[in-house]
Amino acid sequence: MSTSSDLSPPPPSLLRPLDFPHKVLMGPGPSNCPPRVLAACALPMLGHLHPEFIKIMDEVKEGLKYAFQTDNTWTFVISGTGHAAMEAACSNLLEQDEVALVCQNGIWGERFADMVERNGSVAQKLIRPMGEVFNLKEIEEGLQKHKPKILFITHGESSGATAQPLEGIGELCHKNNCLLLVDSVAALGGVPMYMDKFGIDVLYSGSQKVLSSPPGASPISFSNRAREAVLNRKSRCRSYYFDANELANYWGCDDKPRRYHHTAPITSVYALREGLARLAELGLEESWKNNKVCAEQLWEGVEKMGLELLVPQKELRNPCVTAIKVPDGVNWKDVSDYAMKNYRVEISGGLGMMAGKIWRVGIMGYNATPDNIRLVLRGLKEGVENCKK
Ligand SMILES: *Cc1c(COP(=O)(O)O)cnc(C)c1O
Repeated sequence: MSTSSDLSPPPPSLLRPLDFPHKVLMGPGPSNCPPRVLAACALPMLGHLHPEFIKIMDEVKEGLKYAFQTDNTWTFVISGTGHAAMEAACSNLLEQDEVALVCQNGIWGERFADMVERNGSVAQKLIRPMGEVFNLKEIEEGLQKHKPKILFITHGESSGATAQPLEGIGELCHKNNCLLLVDSVAALGGVPMYMDKFGIDVLYSGSQKVLSSPPGASPISFSNRAREAVLNRKSRCRSYYFDANELANYWGCDDKPRRYHHTAPITSVYALREGLARLAELGLEESWKNNKVCAEQLWEGVEKMGLELLVPQKELRNPCVTAIKVPDGVNWKDVSDYAMKNYRVEISGGLGMMAGKIWRVGIMGYNATPDNIRLVLRGLKEGVENCKK
């Protein structure tokens, strides 16, 4: 029999109150949540199939259809962060040895290709450096050469800070019997999106970026064409957790009674409901405009300081994530630390090939305000002045 002397003691750190810093999160996500979203996080639990929770799920679906501008019945939420939605798209759309053509102009294409290979499928790549986007001609050539089942492309690149023009890509894909998969985790809500009009077959996003909600509930939608492809698979989806047939049922997207598949992250769904309600009240056009106005304020301020942006063409910049080149003789981290220490504002560094070479500033949803941009500019300007090597 064990006695109390066998027990290791409770950790002293947990016996002290939670020590919590308030910060302005102007990196590429997560972003700050508005009070109504935080209030939703404090609501009591409901059961995952209680009628009141199902009503909230249905409201989330309506909000997503609005945000995506789609009528797709298979529009629901993946329990997990943006990567979970990526995995869900990959594992549902691709079977063993099937080919994906992956447009890679930053880490997201790179990661998606990795997921494709782990799924036992084949990743062919179109590669461009970070800071550049793809044109219709090279996409068409790629489709003809590789005959892929799906094409993956990133709408708002958060590592290379580009906004990929999407017009025409869906048409090219469909002409070549290919499904179009788009990652809009770092753009949805901040950049115009018309899922149905653009002919996108699968679109996913995340909750903690422009939707200004906590991480953990990721929107996804499948066109009828994509749904047919999933329904007509020869093998079952390798992931039980991400199986879209099961998830569509749990989210009430088929005509069968809802079954327990897994427990939705209840609190994250409440919060996403409030993030989407904020977007609905504001209106998509107003949200896109806020983002654009703040991004232009940032770009102007940065250039006035004599700093250079990674993406020279204004129309190809992602208004939700800006990349600023770190000048010679300055350590990016010192400046970022300066801004955090003095202004409690987050300015991030680069990823992958761009690590150490750029700063990244996120302008997302609730955080897209002129005051926040001024704070970033002040932190950056003083940081650079104070941190010259
Ligand atoms: C943040 C991000 C993701 C991944 O989201 P997580 O929530 O961190 O898993 C995917 N794609 C893009 C473009 C992103 O910016």
